[in-house]
Amino acid sequence: MLNQEQPEIPKPLDQLTPEEITRKACIGKLMTHTLKNLTDTYINKGFQWLLPVVLSQSTDPLWPDPHLSIEKRIEFEIYGKPVRTTTSMIMHKLAATSTVYPKLFILSPNIRIEKAERAKTGRHIYEFTQLDFEMVNASSKDVFTLVEEALITLIKNLKQDLKPELTTLGRLNDLKVPNTPFKIYDRTDLETKYGVDNWEADLINDLKEPAWITNIPRQFYDFEDFKTGRWDNYDLLLPQFGEVLSGSKRENDYQKIIKKIERDQVKKENYMRIIEMAKDGRLKPTAGAGIGIERLVGWIAGVKHIAECQPFPRAPGNVNEL
Ligand code: AMP
Ligand code: MG
Repeated sequence: MLNQEQPEIPKPLDQLTPEEITRKACIGKLMTHTLKNLTDTYINKGFQWLLPVVLSQSTDPLWPDPHLSIEKRIEFEIYGKPVRTTTSMIMHKLAATSTVYPKLFILSPNIRIEKAERAKTGRHIYEFTQLDFEMVNASSKDVFTLVEEALITLIKNLKQDLKPELTTLGRLNDLKVPNTPFKIYDRTDLETKYGVDNWEADLINDLKEPAWITNIPRQFYDFEDFKTGRWDNYDLLLPQFGEVLSGSKRENDYQKIIKKIERDQVKKENYMRIIEMAKDGRLKPTAGAGIGIERLVGWIAGVKHIAECQPFPRAPGNVNEL
């Protein structure tokens, strides 16, 4: 993505030097406080905390997402039925918000066997965690406001409570509390300005503050206005770093969902629960997003590779004993 030099692959715990142990411990404290702070924010705003699942018949197709680079999909049988490891809990979120849990979040482990060459981006790992949230009857604007508030509270608190750790990591002064509201860019304008292939890398270099990008063609569950062709979805980009969140207002219209699944050539039989809920009018309008936790903490800590934020690093192409 945008690291000029290739980052070193983070080492297993038992191979760290004393200096590296100090650094890892500081990142670990940032992680603990980040998780506490964000989960507190969501709970205080009335969200329910759901525990994750790792095996399901239905998981995120990840297709067609412009960032997709999957080497292998993990699928096997249990009790005579096919299951897949969780790529994201989007389908579970849609079913759960529409029924029992109108505002929810999950710290959801995602397994995506990224191509080994992605180790060099410093932004990809093959097991990561999303703070995945969803709310009923919400708009993109509601998500923007919620996320902006959550990030500002987080950064303020970290700068106050973890001064020694941020100082050790050389981040106390560089890590600024962002101004709100964050700027919103339309992907089509960025393509005009920077070019279709380069806009993301170039924009990240130019950004001084986090910014929203909207209108990105991708999976069937993101809302698309069939009349204008505009997608009501968004990514959050962090300056000098890249994407930390993706989300959208969701598609809940049966006809549109079917049309998009067919257009994308996604296997309909893997999404029957959601399709049937939509058909019966039981799929509610929701909006949400997933925040990549290792990326968020990695940006805060100023790491070269986000696997530094993992006790047990999962850099693409690297399998450790632990
Ligand atoms: P997605 O819906 O695919 O955009 O995933 C949601 C968020 O998870 C992204 O915005 C990233 O912050 C994070 N994420 C996605 N893929 C990876 C990966 N391979 N490694 C680390 N974080 C990731
Ligand atoms: Mg994304």
